[in-house]
Amino acid sequence: MRQPLVAGNWKMHGSAQSVSELLGALVEGGVPEAVEVVVCPTYVHLPQAIDLCRASSVEVGAQDCSHAVEGAYTGEVAAPMIAELGCQWVIIGHSERRAYHGEGEDLISAKLKAAMAAGLKPIFCVGETREQREADEAETVVAAQLRGALESVDTLAGLVIAYEPVWAIGTGLTATPQQAQDMHAFIRGELAGLGVDPAATRVLYGGSVKPGNAAELFAQQDIDGALVGGAALVAEDFQAIVTAA
Ligand code: PEP
Repeated sequence: MRQPLVAGNWKMHGSAQSVSELLGALVEGGVPEAVEVVVCPTYVHLPQAIDLCRASSVEVGAQDCSHAVEGAYTGEVAAPMIAELGCQWVIIGHSERRAYHGEGEDLISAKLKAAMAAGLKPIFCVGETREQREADEAETVVAAQLRGALESVDTLAGLVIAYEPVWAIGTGLTATPQQAQDMHAFIRGELAGLGVDPAATRVLYGGSVKPGNAAELFAQQDIDGALVGGAALVAEDFQAIVTAA
């Protein structure tokens, strides 16, 4: 039995005040014990978020990490630094990092290794663009992303996959529950081929998850929760998605 996981990706949003309000509401509202809940604010808001979540079961993650442990990498933040703060999680390979920062499979693979070595649990994102889906290439693209990033990583225990079709992120378009289920089942098959136990690995769906569509998505056999963007910035919406899980 895989524990449901709902993670909020706050992207480049927030101020000291909004972080305090959002997490204040989440911690006060409480989260069901059965669901693992993670929030991923910007780097600068991580210490504040960790402090605010200390009295609850809400866990904190970063949105990215460097492939390197230390050195002359201006602007980068290393996985051990994130772990030292008290974070348990890190998002790796988000489509916005792939699209705007040119991240490819080799770099993503190195980041996964760095995260694992630092004791962080990665939420590794995969997903196809609209053009790729329309060209019937969605499975080929996702398989290549999984293989390219995971093949050379030795220890993958605790890895979480997020299937995020790029055409559904921040667009209001959501994969139908059946489209998402089909891809999640496909991902489990690919994981088995890579030596990762598919029955023990959580596969989240991401892409315009809202209170109105969450329950239907979570009812699918192979969907173990969600990576949530926009709706994670609205306390009552995020809480409703957590409750649906
Ligand atoms: C995301 O950024 O990971 C995401 C899923 O965003 P949204 O929920 O806004 O589509």
